[in-house]
This record gives sequence, C-alpha cells and structure tokens, in this order.
Amino acid sequence: MSNSSKQVFAKGQLIIISGPSGVGKSTICDQLVKQLDNVYLSVSATTRSQKNGEENGRDYWFVSRDEFEKQIKAGNFIEHAEVFGNLYGTPKDKVLQALDKGKTAILEIDVQGAQQVKNLYPAAKLIFILPPKQTELEKRINDRGRDDETDIEKRLDGAGIEIAAAWQHYKYMVINDDLQQAVQEVIDIIKKPVGEQE
Ligand code: 5GP
Repeated sequence: MSNSSKQVFAKGQLIIISGPSGVGKSTICDQLVKQLDNVYLSVSATTRSQKNGEENGRDYWFVSRDEFEKQIKAGNFIEHAEVFGNLYGTPKDKVLQALDKGKTAILEIDVQGAQQVKNLYPAAKLIFILPPKQTELEKRINDRGRDDETDIEKRLDGAGIEIAAAWQHYKYMVINDDLQQAVQEVIDIIKKPVGEQE
C-alpha cells in the first residue's frame, strides 16, 4: 500500500484491543465504555453461531457466510479475518462516523485484523491483553461456560500463536491479573498523546 492511501484522523483516535480467548477483553472494553467519555465500541459482524447469553447487535452482528461475503465485496469492512474457522469483520461506516465526531473508537479484534487496521491507519494504538499465566486462560474459558469442548480446544491452541505474534506487532502489552489495574493501564495508554516517548 502506498503512503498516500494511508489515512490520518484529525479527530478521534482508533484503539485496538486484542488478546487470547478468555483473557477478559470484553470485560475490559465494557469498563472502558463506562469509565471514559466519548467512546464508541465497535460491534463486529461474524459468521460464527450465536451462543447462550449473546445478543445480536450487542455482542456481534450474526450473519451467514453468504451475507458476510457480500459485505466484503461491497467494501463494508475496515478489516476482516478468519478466526477459529469463522469470519469476523469490523463494519466500516460506524467506526468512521465515530472518529469523525471526535470519538475514541475501540475495536476488539484479533492480531490479523489489527495488522490490517495498522496498515490503513498507522496512528491506531495496538494494545494486547495477556493472562497472568497460561492456566488462567483455561480456567476463565471454562468458567464462562460459553463454548463447547471443540471451541475451547481451538481457542487454547490459538492462544500461544496469538501471543507470539503480538510481541512482534503490538506496542502495548497489558497483563490482566487485577481487572481494575488492567483497565487503568489501558486508560493511561489511550490518554497518552500519540508519539510521546515512553
Ligand atoms: P469469539 O468467537 O471468542 O467471540 O472471538 C474469537 C476471536 O475473534 C477473538 O480473538 C476476537 O478478538 C476476534 N474478533 C472478534 N471480532 C473481530 C473482528 O471484527 N475482526 C477480527 N479480525 N477479529 C475479531
């Protein structure tokens, strides 16, 4: 991609939150919405099936593969990726509108999607959430009772690969041991002026 096709936002900032399944990304994002003003939390589209306790339009937009592929062709996603055998994508319009209004737009997406967004919007801040230890992931995935055994296996297998990729591509790594402390660290990163030396 040439530099001229890269976009810079004069107004809002774009924040990407990634991390292995069960690390607590959604809980952290919910807290960011509660504790920060002027935030837009993106709702992704996915072809994976809706799980118990999930709501269409709140957790995800649940769509068929056909519908998803039509949306790709129409250019409606900022990024999209196949994760654990299903397609996930970030709807473009709402995110661009939020940024245009000066909001902080938060995308909870995987490492493949994060790299796509970073290529398009170099000013995006990439934050990766880590578990305090590997066994904690397994415990949290089991405790939330959302996924069946095959899904749990896929997610645990993917965790190591995702964490390895994150050390290469993410500027900010936050360990979610104590939730409030992790949320505060993420808030400090969001509030840090872009380009400030660490
Ligand atoms: P889950 O099925 O457990 O809700 O999510 C599986 C993975 O897909 C997680 O790593 C999550 O961050 C990622 N994901 C969710 N929405 C998106 C999206 O819009 N784009 C990309 N690239 N990944 C997503």
